[in-house]
Amino acid sequence: MSGAEAVKMGLSRDGGLLTPESIPQIDGAFLTELTQLSYQQRAAKVMGLFLTDYSGEELLTFAENAYGPDKFDHPAAAPLRKVDGTTHCLELWHGPTSAFKDMALQMLPQLLSAALRKTGEDKTVCILVATSGDTGKAAMEGFADVPQTKIMVFYPKDGVSAVQEAQMVTQEGDNVGVCAVAGNFDDAQAGVKRIFSDEAMRKTLADRGYFLSSANSINWGRILPQVVYYVSAYCDLLRDGEIQMGDKVNVCVPTGNFGNILAAYYAKRMGVPLGRLICASNCNDVLTEFLRTGVYNRNRPFHTTMSPSMDILVSSNLERLLFDLSGENDEEVRGYMDALAKEGRYEVSGAIKAKLKDLFWGGFCGEEDTAAAIARYYKDYGYLIDTHTAVAADVLAQYRRETGDETVTVFASTASPYKFCDHVLAAIGETPKGEGVDLLDQLHEVSGTAVPRRLAALRGKERRFDLTAEKAEMDGVVTAFLK
Ligand SMILES: *Cc1c(COP(=O)(O)O)cnc(C)c1O
Repeated sequence: MSGAEAVKMGLSRDGGLLTPESIPQIDGAFLTELTQLSYQQRAAKVMGLFLTDYSGEELLTFAENAYGPDKFDHPAAAPLRKVDGTTHCLELWHGPTSAFKDMALQMLPQLLSAALRKTGEDKTVCILVATSGDTGKAAMEGFADVPQTKIMVFYPKDGVSAVQEAQMVTQEGDNVGVCAVAGNFDDAQAGVKRIFSDEAMRKTLADRGYFLSSANSINWGRILPQVVYYVSAYCDLLRDGEIQMGDKVNVCVPTGNFGNILAAYYAKRMGVPLGRLICASNCNDVLTEFLRTGVYNRNRPFHTTMSPSMDILVSSNLERLLFDLSGENDEEVRGYMDALAKEGRYEVSGAIKAKLKDLFWGGFCGEEDTAAAIARYYKDYGYLIDTHTAVAADVLAQYRRETGDETVTVFASTASPYKFCDHVLAAIGETPKGEGVDLLDQLHEVSGTAVPRRLAALRGKERRFDLTAEKAEMDGVVTAFLK
């Protein structure tokens, strides 16, 4: 299958995830070359290694459109901020929706439009998205009014922040739809996966001139642009003299669906000298337990936390990791996924356990420690971080305490603190005055940092969507949307 076909399809027909046939290798010379380049140029070079059916020129144009000054409020797109001698924060929220999802979702629509052209597709693609808060908005922002596409977003009714909801229900564009689902993110994600594997539905939509694809991180086109920023971060550390070529760098990622940290894993597999991959969870600690014991068990209470984009018990992208770690053993991975679907639990082989232990370290942090990390970063470094980033900051501190490993570490900052004003204000000792977008100014006044332009513009924006559905009604919502 070509890169264009994989991007177009999103999810394979049997419900499995697509992965690259082979992982291209890079060396010191390649990294040295990238060190001199802009983020956009780095993106084109790295993505070109995988997408051999796209030209370098094409990819550079896409990267310039995706990460240019119209969209990103920082010229480096994904800048590193030095926190202390060995700690660097990779800020991934300078895009139009103020969360890291923009890094991929400003790129994916362009890859997909080109894929439709390259494959001579005449149907309209309908992107279905299940969102824990940030993906939905970022996907709509990327796909709004893109020809030959429609996009329908499902979000958990009581599972997103006030700013996240305001961002989604005010989205402009003639090809977008938004629906709240009575349930949590796992319910919304399971509903979307069910629609994907429903043959009758596929047929009905095909008769109407549509086919379905995905903008969730189950689409390989979502993961690839995320690989770029780990490569780029290594190059920035080299350029700034923080490390020498070949030095190991640890990465710590606040994790939900395992997409972002999987991108770091692929960067390591490509040959970027990354050390330990530290997987940070909130009190939905299913991944911590998995990485420590090899047992994945989703039979546990679901907690709603102040880091809602990580409130997930079924991390889809683990399937890709297991495929790679099992030596691409389809049958073994299918066995795990079937057990997960049937019993909500599986245990990986001893061989995989050993590899997990070598590559990853898992930790989690509760609500109080999340708030304490925000307060500590603000006080010690004058650095305001959001609730998700704070989970990573706390887990990184735990890792260092437990292992004594002081390797230079990049930790991912996945959202602007302005998306979660209420919790961030409370964490730094302020009493929130009001709610939702009303708090943007208060956080600005207290911290002196700038309100992201598009979040400020949410005030007074018209609410366009008011639909709520039960889980079982999601199919009907899609068929009505694609009349
Ligand atoms: C989506 C999201 C995450 C989790 O990323 P995954 O790729 O699902 O692991 C973490 N933080 C924020 C702010 C997010 O939007």
